[in-house]
Amino acid sequence: MNEKLMTTIDERVEDLVALTAELIRFPTINPPGEAYAPCAEYIAARLKKRRFETQFIRAEGAPGDTDRYPRVNVVARFDGRSSGATVHFNSHIDVVEAGDGWSVDPFAGVVRDGKVFGRGACDMKGGLAASIIAAEAFMDVYPDFPGAIEISGTVDEESGGFGGVAYLARKGFFSKPRVDHVIIPEPLNKDRICLGHRGVWWAEIETKGEIAHGSMPFLGDCAVRHMGAVLNAFENELFPALDRKRTKMPVVPEGAKRSTMNINSIHGGQTDDFFPGLPSPNVPDSAKMVIDRRFLLEENLDDVKGEVTKILDRLKRDRPKFDYEIRDLMEVLPLMTERDAPVVTAVAQGIREIFGKEPDYVISPGTYDQKHISRIGHLHDCIAYGPGILDLAHRPDEWVGISDMVESAKVMAIGLEALLLGAAR
Ligand SMILES: [Zn+2]
Repeated sequence: MNEKLMTTIDERVEDLVALTAELIRFPTINPPGEAYAPCAEYIAARLKKRRFETQFIRAEGAPGDTDRYPRVNVVARFDGRSSGATVHFNSHIDVVEAGDGWSVDPFAGVVRDGKVFGRGACDMKGGLAASIIAAEAFMDVYPDFPGAIEISGTVDEESGGFGGVAYLARKGFFSKPRVDHVIIPEPLNKDRICLGHRGVWWAEIETKGEIAHGSMPFLGDCAVRHMGAVLNAFENELFPALDRKRTKMPVVPEGAKRSTMNINSIHGGQTDDFFPGLPSPNVPDSAKMVIDRRFLLEENLDDVKGEVTKILDRLKRDRPKFDYEIRDLMEVLPLMTERDAPVVTAVAQGIREIFGKEPDYVISPGTYDQKHISRIGHLHDCIAYGPGILDLAHRPDEWVGISDMVESAKVMAIGLEALLLGAAR
């Protein structure tokens, strides 16, 4: 390990903490997408001082993009003295709302007891700050390095990434030859490498009925009762079947090493506000259910959908008057970067050198922006690696440990050595 690189990072702890706190002070809450532009401008100003070329890309027409809430992304690039690979650090700058239960101001950037507190501290402004410190230290220690380093601050990850990484990927920002390796500093814990995520299928199921007076339900057909039959079949057949499916993917936590499905919502009936304070007096002719099915590398999407439609089709055959429609809302295929991919071995080397142990390789139960880099950018040398404890994300009193950020920055810097200098050992 290069001692100079490590001591350079150690000497910049104050800078790292100040940078993290400053980033937290931009209340980049999504939705609606507050303070994106000033936060992006702050990141650009910092990197411009280090002679990065910076550009702002507003996702015109993306969901939520308005003049009041512009979806402003920033991409900064520093080209080394000679040609070579490009390593890209991608962080989302948006955070979820603070919610209740905080003992500190969630947007003050409070530093206490070796931690920086605030909404987004761990998810993922601490990771963004660590990647900036890592890149700057690497550039100072190796001023003649070949290749290029990119750092982006992107928006809307918490709402699907459509105005952020997906938009940039469509413009070629996450494809070869512009970029070769991508590290997303999401809070997956400092000694773990996240290789990908399970798949997602969101769908809306609607059962049909026939409207009638509530006092004479026999004259109509109740869509909510039909939905009850769907729920019943799910309880008796689908949930137990999903529970039995296990994956070889190293998904964390343990409970997510199988197929799962959440029922996000059920709505039935004409209206809950027929007359002030009174619900509809009618037999409902429609009921809707939204399901969130998470699936495994071992499953394919057609089979996943088939398990549900098979149940619905059987009800249609066996249950009088049963009819349904199903609409896809979102589909994301499961992803797992190979363990011998260059970015994986480079970061693994950093973890070995800093922590003296083998990294844990994990798969996220939910998706993140890697899906767009893979599907739209067709770039597969991508992982999530960053400081911060995953369980603290989105919670009150969210924090990131200062020493965790320092150690992660060192791992990232060693990763840069391995990827750009070929310093693999
Ligand atoms: Zn995140």
